[in-house]
Amino acid sequence: MKLILLGAPGAGKGTQAEVICDKLGIPAISTGNLIRAALKEGTELGLKAKSYMDAGDLVPDEVVIGIIKERLAQEDCKNGFILDGFPRTVPQAEALDQMGVSIDKVLDIEVKDEDIMKRLSGRRVCESCGASYHVLYKPSKQEGICTKCNGKLVIRKDDEPATIASRLDVYHAQTEPLKEYYSKKGILSVVEGQEEVADTTKLTLAALEA
Ligand code: AMP
Repeated sequence: MKLILLGAPGAGKGTQAEVICDKLGIPAISTGNLIRAALKEGTELGLKAKSYMDAGDLVPDEVVIGIIKERLAQEDCKNGFILDGFPRTVPQAEALDQMGVSIDKVLDIEVKDEDIMKRLSGRRVCESCGASYHVLYKPSKQEGICTKCNGKLVIRKDDEPATIASRLDVYHAQTEPLKEYYSKKGILSVVEGQEEVADTTKLTLAALEA
């Protein structure tokens, strides 16, 4: 199964990707997490991406396409994968087609902009493993500590209110056209994001089986 999760930043793609990953035993690949890991390691790619990320802009297509090509060539992707946060532009989707990757399903998680603002301001991420939490909707067992790896939970720099607004603008202008792109291919399913994670999960799993 090769899946794409579409949706605005904070719509819950990462959370649903984790659920599907556990259920189907295929890796969840987040380009955001890959870029943040490169940044932490201080690689050239990470340094190149930093200014775009901090401003809430997209990292240039050729950089992200290079990252995803390398990741999909790894052994654990041979039985399928879930893409979280890629593609984010039509040229990225075209690049995926040109790589010969045949996507089975695209799940579009829909959440209103005003709810996105609320969600992102409460998001906390683990600085070690990248796991994502929310102070109200998906709290860690111990405040400030990752339930999975005991890493420290931090606020992402690009989750600050001014940056959230520009990330939403970027989403509407550059990523939303992908809905039409995949709808024309007949592989798009819409999942209405719910306030409770468990409710969104039910809808996500139903969409997967449909
Ligand atoms: P995310 O963790 O998916 O919200 O991604 C965080 C940031 O990483 C985005 O705001 C972009 O700056 C960058 N990024 C992640 N995925 C992509 C992508 N597919 N194309 C361009 N930039 C990306």
